[in-house]
Amino acid sequence: MSLVLTNSMSGRKETFKPIDAANVRMYVCGPTVYDHAHIGNARPPVVFDLLYRLLGHLYGAAHVTYARNITDIDDKIIARAQESGRDIADITDHYTRIYREDMAQLNILPPDIEPLATDHIEPMIAMIKALIEKQVAYAAEGHVLFHVPAMPDYGKLSHRPRDEMVAGARVEVAPYKKDPADFILWKPSSPNQPGWDSPWGRGRPGWHLECSAMIKAHLGTEIDLHGGGQDLIFPHHENEMAQSECAHDHPFVRTWVHNGYVLANGEKMSKSLGNFHTVHDLLADFPGEAIRLTLMSAHYRQPLDFTKDGIAENRRRLDRWYRLIGGVEAAKSLPQTVITALEDDLNSPKAIAALEALAKPETADQLLAGAQFMGLLLEAPDVWFKAERSGGLDQQAVEALIVERRAARQARDFARADAVRDQLDAAGIRLLDRPDGTTDWERIGHD
Ligand SMILES: [Zn+2]
Repeated sequence: MSLVLTNSMSGRKETFKPIDAANVRMYVCGPTVYDHAHIGNARPPVVFDLLYRLLGHLYGAAHVTYARNITDIDDKIIARAQESGRDIADITDHYTRIYREDMAQLNILPPDIEPLATDHIEPMIAMIKALIEKQVAYAAEGHVLFHVPAMPDYGKLSHRPRDEMVAGARVEVAPYKKDPADFILWKPSSPNQPGWDSPWGRGRPGWHLECSAMIKAHLGTEIDLHGGGQDLIFPHHENEMAQSECAHDHPFVRTWVHNGYVLANGEKMSKSLGNFHTVHDLLADFPGEAIRLTLMSAHYRQPLDFTKDGIAENRRRLDRWYRLIGGVEAAKSLPQTVITALEDDLNSPKAIAALEALAKPETADQLLAGAQFMGLLLEAPDVWFKAERSGGLDQQAVEALIVERRAARQARDFARADAVRDQLDAAGIRLLDRPDGTTDWERIGHD
């Protein structure tokens, strides 16, 4: 079988055929680094990590290049710097580091290339110049705008009628715009805003342009796959495509892949509803693998209802799987049922069901191979069951209490021994008294 993906451009499942099987290229829009990522922001990196792993399996890891950018210049970052009095570089360095740490805890492989927008100002200016030369962009009052009516097939990705696109652009119609749908490629910076010298004065790039220029710089002018959350289809991806296709006069992306929204208890996540979880906070309470499994539990195109109960349930599932793999070596080949499910439009719920079908002692080696391929069961079972979560007792404290309990029992102070056991119980520590007289232990879920 071969890989089939739903291409957002056609709205249909299509057989994936790379432009060059020796160099499969994928780009995914990365974070704007001014705050902690919330759980909705973690869905695209998990979905496209799974696709990256699958492409590596199908074409060889050395033949796949995955780029995911860091947006480190943006009005939201500038606003955060102004309200907090911190340097922009301080903010972006800090949140870039946390983003990388959080993603690593979800077992997301680092992309091959992680370009920073601020390292690509020159290629951005070059692309704007090319668009002006081709008369699809114009400079006005320190701005440069892409002229939407100059591209007859603008809108072919989002399939929106023109009046909706103008309304959807949600920008007040500035007097320097020739058409209300025209969008910013470059804008002027005031003296207290970050900026770079350009032929149109000191300024900074528009967000859409950043991705177009970084894709060209690292992956070329036509790529196999471009991914992101469905909220990016319009205007961000529509505009990326407009810029790149007009600059290069040929198609930009073979297959567009978009993941659905993350909901909390059936509602859209928002700060005002108080149903907003950051990845960072969730990682204090739950293992990254349980969060990852939860994010893979719905098909990527469907909305995903994310609840803490859901993560706890997936944690118990992982507990069960971890119990099966002690002393087991992963099978040499990947289970075909898992690969077949993923080849069918990255059907992760079906792949998880295939893992579940292997979750028995006689096929534990295949469970382990398939789960590790999907970024799960990557810890040693001993580490998994002992890892500290949520401000509980640390390993040293647990072991000190076990020693104390043993001493109390030897002194026949059973009241003290029971009190210690209760204390461990309350902290979610299960004691395992071995026949040889030693006591091992593990953590159980906090539910
Ligand atoms: Zn982008």
